[in-house]
Amino acid sequence: MPSTDSHDPKKIYGIHIWGEGNFVVEDGVVKINHGCKPSLMEITKRLRDEGYKGPLFLRFPHLSAQNVRNLFAHFERAKREFGYGGKFKAVFPLKVNQFPGFIIPLMEATKELEYGLEAGSKGELILAMAYTNLGKPITVNGFKDQELISIGFLAAKMGHNITLTIEGINELELIIKEAKRFGTPVPKIGLRIRLHTGGIGIWAKSGGYSSKFGLTSTELLEAMDLLKAHDLTDRLSMIHFHIGSQMNHISPLKKAIREAGNIYAELRKLGAENLHAINIGGGLAVEYSQQESQTSRNYTLEEFTNDVVFLLKEISQAKGVREPTIFTESGRYVAANHAVLVAPVLELFSQEYSEKILRLKETNPPLVQELYDLYRSISTKNAREYLHDALDHMESLLTLFDLGYIDLTDRANTETLVHLIIKKALELLRDKPSKEIKDILDRVQERYLVNFSLFQSLPDYWGLGQTFPLMPLDRLDQPPTRSASLWDITCDSDGEIAFNIDNPLYLHDVNVEKEEYFLGFFKVGAYQEILGMRHNLFTHPTEAIVRFEEDGTYRIEKILEAQNILDVLEDIDYDTKEVERRIRQLIEDSEKIEEDERKEILGKLYLYLSENGYLRTINFAE
Ligand SMILES: *Cc1c(COP(=O)(O)O)cnc(C)c1O
Repeated sequence: MPSTDSHDPKKIYGIHIWGEGNFVVEDGVVKINHGCKPSLMEITKRLRDEGYKGPLFLRFPHLSAQNVRNLFAHFERAKREFGYGGKFKAVFPLKVNQFPGFIIPLMEATKELEYGLEAGSKGELILAMAYTNLGKPITVNGFKDQELISIGFLAAKMGHNITLTIEGINELELIIKEAKRFGTPVPKIGLRIRLHTGGIGIWAKSGGYSSKFGLTSTELLEAMDLLKAHDLTDRLSMIHFHIGSQMNHISPLKKAIREAGNIYAELRKLGAENLHAINIGGGLAVEYSQQESQTSRNYTLEEFTNDVVFLLKEISQAKGVREPTIFTESGRYVAANHAVLVAPVLELFSQEYSEKILRLKETNPPLVQELYDLYRSISTKNAREYLHDALDHMESLLTLFDLGYIDLTDRANTETLVHLIIKKALELLRDKPSKEIKDILDRVQERYLVNFSLFQSLPDYWGLGQTFPLMPLDRLDQPPTRSASLWDITCDSDGEIAFNIDNPLYLHDVNVEKEEYFLGFFKVGAYQEILGMRHNLFTHPTEAIVRFEEDGTYRIEKILEAQNILDVLEDIDYDTKEVERRIRQLIEDSEKIEEDERKEILGKLYLYLSENGYLRTINFAE
């Protein structure tokens, strides 16, 4: 649990489980473990001082580049270890993150590797053509029409090393048609195979017999016949499968590789003399867990690469075929950790409760009076006992209210007093953490209102229950005392990360009216950005790229401010001139607005329309 480990900076908030050494806690703050090791707090402060308010989406291109290099290094090591003769190549699947702030630095940083892009639609193919370093692989998966296939032929003509992976026989027919019309060069052809092995987890539909994708054995034979009949057998170069995302066990992959390896050997026997690659898809899992007991990946990259290389070597030997080039399409593994969302806490709900707001009467109901006495006389010695009593009294008083025996003022006093007692008890027991107190607090959690939209920034939490590592950016040298649930600023009750006793979150008791408190959500770089939706018209947060120089210094570049309100309205097809005209008209027609006020009111409204919709919080540094 984060709170019990909080004295060991190496284990704080489970950073030793999910952090992969990329982030470290030192001097009470979380730092990027690279170059001059800036803290996330320092980067956040710099951006806020420049006037960027609301949530911030920070990209760290050195991390995505490092992941790709790691992948290549491990495959190269495994190849040496097992004396494997085939090559290793990889592509990044664009559907995982198509954003320029991610893709452009990734392609720049991996020029020296056999690394390209995978496209699943026309739009993605255009991106792949524009940004894949010439000669590096492009693969195209997903359903295709004649037009998409034509674009593929154009890419080949431009000199791209492109493979069109067909998902069904009809797509092969379209390629044959295009080859007749267009002539050479014909792109390389890949066949997606339908595995007997099932897919896994929430993404099970990607693999297995009931899968949406891939050719059955009969269709594979049919494809070979078609290729031969049209003299295109020499273009067949790859077979492909993808068993699903975030595979937590390696055994389904091993099964799939055995199956694919045998299909590869059989197709070569049938005359596919240029078939030389097996594309094992993506699925490499990312560790999101902050709890030792709930880790989501039961293998290391070393194990993964060893298994793949060893198995393919074994099958090739047994079948007497040459060892295939291994392709991977891991997306989540490459992209997830490159981005961190920083979101300011706007409010702690219990902060509303202060002694000032008590409305005690001349004579209060006895239990309310008793609560007040508890509050006045609570001390370190009796804190635990008084806390119990207070919660009991609260239950009774709420029942009394339901039965009509006490009034709204009594109820308000009850709520305030109980919150004040909890706060005081926490303070008194700060140095004596106990399981009992923790249990009580887990029941009465503090609610933190956070300036972000869960629907925009963590859609997989909303849609799939995927949790992301999260921690405050500072105060990490102080124990967090409050059991926390998080609320986003949408007005949707699903916009909540509820306190979960199996994965409890503890945060600090801060007075956000006096000091700032920021939460970092980590590993949000895969899938979240493009799946994020503009529920309540909250848009992609302001983003910035943090780059390290050779000498270890860093700079913040390419700041992209969150879309302003007018642009968002335009995106969903409002005629923004019309919106402005209507508002202006209302101001002009209103009898309540004096003529000399009009200009000022209009000016104010225009200012709001030109800003993004997130809440603006005070910058305490000012
Ligand atoms: C989505 C997808 C991937 C990427 O999967 P990750 O789990 O992100 O590695 C790879 N290949 C195909 C065909 C996909 O559809």
